[in-house]
Amino acid sequence: MLNCLIIGGGIHGTYLSHVLVHRAGIDRVRVLDPHIEPLARWNRLSANSGMRFMRSPAAHHIGLEANALLAYSRSHPERSPTADFRGRMLKPSYALFQTHARHVIECNRLADLRVQGRAHTIAANGRGLTVETDRGLLHARRVVLAIGRTAVRRPGWAEGIPHVFDADFKRDDQSPWVHAVGFGGGITAAQLALALARQRPGQVTLLSRRRLRVSEFDASSCWVGPACRKQLARTPDFDARRHIVNQARHSGTVSPVVATAVRQAHERRELIHKVGEVALRQDDTLHLYDGRTLQADRVILATGFSARRPGGRWLSQVIDSLGLPTAACGYPVVDWGLHWGKGIHVSGPLAELELGPAAPNIAGARLAAQRLHGSLS
Ligand SMILES: Cc1cc2nc3c(=O)[nH]c(=O)nc-3n(C[C@H](O)[C@H](O)[C@H](O)COP(=O)(O)OP(=O)(O)OC[C@H]3O[C@@H](n4cnc5c(N)ncnc54)[C@H](O)[C@@H]3O)c2cc1C
Repeated sequence: MLNCLIIGGGIHGTYLSHVLVHRAGIDRVRVLDPHIEPLARWNRLSANSGMRFMRSPAAHHIGLEANALLAYSRSHPERSPTADFRGRMLKPSYALFQTHARHVIECNRLADLRVQGRAHTIAANGRGLTVETDRGLLHARRVVLAIGRTAVRRPGWAEGIPHVFDADFKRDDQSPWVHAVGFGGGITAAQLALALARQRPGQVTLLSRRRLRVSEFDASSCWVGPACRKQLARTPDFDARRHIVNQARHSGTVSPVVATAVRQAHERRELIHKVGEVALRQDDTLHLYDGRTLQADRVILATGFSARRPGGRWLSQVIDSLGLPTAACGYPVVDWGLHWGKGIHVSGPLAELELGPAAPNIAGARLAAQRLHGSLS
């Protein structure tokens, strides 16, 4: 029997396995994921987005010590040629973040902890939990759910249009196009449009419903420290917590640097930025509500993830069969140690009613690990 099975091996699951094995000294930890390679989903989504810098600061990464990425960039200048940091917040380049993540995985043999497969159900057995996967049964004393967000947000007119977060989407594999539209108002839409415009200057439109709203992070940095979370801790009603989390989230915003890049690309006519709402798509024509039309033989959605609880039907069945408590929004009601019930713990978006709006981010993985270290050791 495993001591701990982490379901999901993205940024959260991989970082948690690192902390549980190499800091907490827990043995028999495994990470279940359909992808054999750690961070596969993150690698695909982030590469497709065209991001050049992380939105988060240098202390947010999958190494153990907060300064690990900074220290790595200083000691390996040859392995991270594009290593640089942007601004006062020291946001690392995407290339550096990726090189460091690969280094951490390799040095700590985190890939060896992986079990390939997808969880279908979790059932209580006498001594722990049995996880049924598409490749057989796994038994563990504790399970941590780190499954990330799954469902994408898709406007009603956009049926059949690729989304940058779709499982089969590859930005570089797109068939040739004359004019592309990236649709969305957040940082991924802006980065995607900039990346497409680098490929074909002047042949790309960024279409957003409203003017770009600027915010350094997607939630106030006070949520990374304890100050804002105290507000959640003082709120026993989890439906009220949902309201606090939603209010605190700056979704659909772009960082100042990316907003400036869009404005400059627009001024240089490499990229057209239009504000408008699509009423209808007919062949290669987008009809906007205000009567304008846009010609585009390639439309890509970058409208983010749905706010619905991740996990879909299989997790709903687990909730029903194990009687796990949820708030009205469907998200887990967990305790300080992120324990949901019956030996099941959570990380990522599933922990947001306890950790706040930063829970899905890398900062959230680090927060979750601190608490899980305590409750699983
Ligand atoms: C383009 C982009 C840029 C971002 N930039 C930043 C940033 O700069 N800073 C920051 O802090 N955050 C950023 N984020 C937010 C967040 O950090 C990432 O989304 C991160 O990948 C979340 O990690 P995760 O492990 O929760 O999810 P994922 O990376 O999606 O991993 C979840 C894993 O769970 C697996 N899984 C799901 N269901 C099952 C199942 N039933 N059984 C087994 N495995 C399962 C999936 O296959 C997947 O591998 C960004 C997000 C995106 C999309």
